[in-house]
Amino acid sequence: MSSILVRKNKQLWVEQVCLQELAVSFETPFYTYSNDAIKNNFNAYKTALAGQKHLICYAVKANSNIAILQTLVQLGSGFDIVSQGELERVLMAGGDPKKIVFSGVGKSDQEMRRALEIGILCFNIESEAELILLNKISAEMEILAPISVRVNPDIDAKTHPYIATGLKESKFGIDAAEARQIYLRAAKMDNVRIVGIDCHIGSQLTETKPFENALSCLLELIQDLNRNGIMLEHIDVGGGLGVRYRDETPPSVEAYTQKLMELAGARREMLIFEPGRSIVANAGFLVTSVQFVKRNGSKRFAICDAAMNDMLRPSLYGSFLDIQPVCLRQNEPAHFYDIVGPICETGDFLGYERELSIVQGDLLCVCDAGAYGFSMSSNYNSRPRAPELMISGQDVHVVRERETIDDLVRGEHLILKTEK
Ligand SMILES: *Cc1c(COP(=O)(O)O)cnc(C)c1O
Repeated sequence: MSSILVRKNKQLWVEQVCLQELAVSFETPFYTYSNDAIKNNFNAYKTALAGQKHLICYAVKANSNIAILQTLVQLGSGFDIVSQGELERVLMAGGDPKKIVFSGVGKSDQEMRRALEIGILCFNIESEAELILLNKISAEMEILAPISVRVNPDIDAKTHPYIATGLKESKFGIDAAEARQIYLRAAKMDNVRIVGIDCHIGSQLTETKPFENALSCLLELIQDLNRNGIMLEHIDVGGGLGVRYRDETPPSVEAYTQKLMELAGARREMLIFEPGRSIVANAGFLVTSVQFVKRNGSKRFAICDAAMNDMLRPSLYGSFLDIQPVCLRQNEPAHFYDIVGPICETGDFLGYERELSIVQGDLLCVCDAGAYGFSMSSNYNSRPRAPELMISGQDVHVVRERETIDDLVRGEHLILKTEK
């Protein structure tokens, strides 16, 4: 169980809030976050990087709630965005445009214009075609576009294939030899300014070696660029540091950043980190009720009111999330349950074969649900999305309301009969 969640006399608490009591005021399912946990996770990076010229750009896609972004703005965070939607969220939360890096393989014309207009720190370029379009748009706007090239270092991040992004088979980044050519071309363009280099090799990495190999690849290319008169202002090492969901043993933020700082040595460029998961994963919990308990032959199911539309990671990646009873029962026999939702898909599950003492109506807490939880949620099966709560000490803030049926059909129209 995560250290943010504490059990006192059978009950689960997040900071000074008892989840059982919270579920009296708010119907399930709901997400709840610990503000302290987010701050602690961010400050771990800040402390580890003290003395190093750096910028921590939280990867917004991990959890894009504007209250979370606001919390991070107040701690001095920058942001890694992948769409205009994320850009607008960061601005709404009070984020500094000069601390925004823009990643993603398919930035649109409109997205580039908006980012240029507000003056972001850097476009992380993922193809030559993107560079050409950006140069054209910035010429029209009479602005210099700051760029870095996202290098694909062809490194096996040893993570789930869907979240490994640094192999040459993936759509992300540009291999080192071609990246070099693109830098040389960019240096001759009138409306882009080369400011950095970046990479991001995958998510939920549990070893430092792949990160070190990726940075070594960048450093080699930087030396080559320097020899060609191209100087950089920053080196962006991406995100991807893993967290402990079950028995993983990812390096600490301190060990991970230390290794990379050693490798970068006394270089003058600023180091940028783009952590997402490691900032918010263990700060979030999905609380759900057991709607029914059911037996099919020898199998037992706990059918919950949260489903794959609320938390997709188990269905999409086969991810393991710890599931805890909110209140411990002592007089019920324990059984192995598949924890499933009401969605009409066999792949709709939150966890398989969990040993629990539960009865109908009990509350379950899905732990480490803060990253890629709500942000990947959908309305599949026409289920309104769950609310999000932010706990801060004993205060509970509703940072997103539960969707209504009206929200579900907003913007939809019946076909009106036309007169013949
Ligand atoms: C998703 C992503 C991140 C964050 O990854 P985490 O594993 O959540 O730390 C950082 N940079 C880029 C470019 C990404 O796509």
